[in-house]
Amino acid sequence: MSDLIFAATCDLAGKVRGKAFPSAQLDKRQQRGVGWTPTNVQINCFDAIADSPFGALGDLLLIPDQAASVTAEFDTHTERFMLGDIVTLDGTPWELCTRALLKTALARLEAVGGVQLLAAFEHEFQLKGTSALVGEGYGRGGFEEQRALCEALMAQVEAAGFYPDSIMKEYGANQYEVVIGPEKGVRAADAAVILRELTRSVARAHGEAATFTPIRDPNSVGNGVHIHMSFLHPDGTPATYDPDGPCGMSKLTGAFVAGVLKYLDAILALTAPSVISYLRLTPHRWSTAYNNLGFRDREASLRVCPVTSKDPSDIASQFNIEYRAADAAACPHLALAAIVHAGCQGIEDGLSAPEPTEEDLSLLSPADLNSRGLVRLPETLEAALDRFMQNETAKNWFPEPFAEIYRAHKTSEIVHVAEMDTTERCAAYESTY
Ligand code: GLU
Ligand code: MG
Repeated sequence: MSDLIFAATCDLAGKVRGKAFPSAQLDKRQQRGVGWTPTNVQINCFDAIADSPFGALGDLLLIPDQAASVTAEFDTHTERFMLGDIVTLDGTPWELCTRALLKTALARLEAVGGVQLLAAFEHEFQLKGTSALVGEGYGRGGFEEQRALCEALMAQVEAAGFYPDSIMKEYGANQYEVVIGPEKGVRAADAAVILRELTRSVARAHGEAATFTPIRDPNSVGNGVHIHMSFLHPDGTPATYDPDGPCGMSKLTGAFVAGVLKYLDAILALTAPSVISYLRLTPHRWSTAYNNLGFRDREASLRVCPVTSKDPSDIASQFNIEYRAADAAACPHLALAAIVHAGCQGIEDGLSAPEPTEEDLSLLSPADLNSRGLVRLPETLEAALDRFMQNETAKNWFPEPFAEIYRAHKTSEIVHVAEMDTTERCAAYESTY
């Protein structure tokens, strides 16, 4: 039997796709990659192919990256996969490769802010089987029921070179949350993809199936992806905190946050990119529905997170901002690229830190919201896509063909579920994510 390595990209649909090759070919494949097709970018999450400007033409290479390589040992088998970069035949990054899009955004952050990004993705997921347990939100019983799965997952995370932070039974039915430690730059998004894949694999090995779908039951909570971000100076010291700044934010952090909130309605189609993402982004679900900054408020789209120290240097290194308007239908690289670009725009434009909100924004009139620069976020994927397409600034953060290609991709997804009712849509997304 030949050991196979799966070379993969996380694509516009947030799906991990690629091709496998015998591990004996690794050296060669790290030079020459595996063949890839431009139109693959238009395969949506339901495997329909959206309108593609490339048609049947063109060739690309997917080059596996040793820095994003996973070997996961199970009792019965071993899984090997590597995330990689899509390049043209002459080796230049392909403009629609999600890793390349993130690298461009991170380079912009270094150029305009002089800092490196540290980020950690928190994931909620649900096991599809039924559990007889009730009353187990954050419960020990709910945790013990899946202790073996949780322990196996954390061991795999560690073996893959990441930091297993914590895992718990979340509030929703059969819902769990897994948190891993922060990583620098592209590696943070790679870690998110690898974590999702390992969760699915470990669940399978335990006779379960995991879903990261944004929402399973419209009457219950959703599965959020919360992205924690902080900044490092070139010498590695923290750049996020200033004890005298608003809510403890440094000037750079304040401007970044202001940019993200200013452009949030335009980037939502990239961070909450499924039709059912908008069932989750409603008030009173502990997700978010407005472009607001919250000081430790779990219904804010951006939250200043608590720190657990009195020592100023510990506070400075713990201090981080959480983006809560994302879900796992989004490719982590693409979501992070959009957030970073929005933040960079805030820095470039010299925006000042927004005021945090403290009240239930769903009780305010549109005029009151407007007077404070707040908007109700788009309530459908179509509306979110329109905001992106209408925002020339946001569109221009990406290479020229990106916006039209993304719109066509997402439109084909919208069409796929158009005739379905809400229950059918949730079922469709549950089976693909
Ligand atoms: N399930 C919530 C969401 O959809 C998050 C709950 C929490 O604060 O952890 O984002
Ligand atoms: Mg949670």
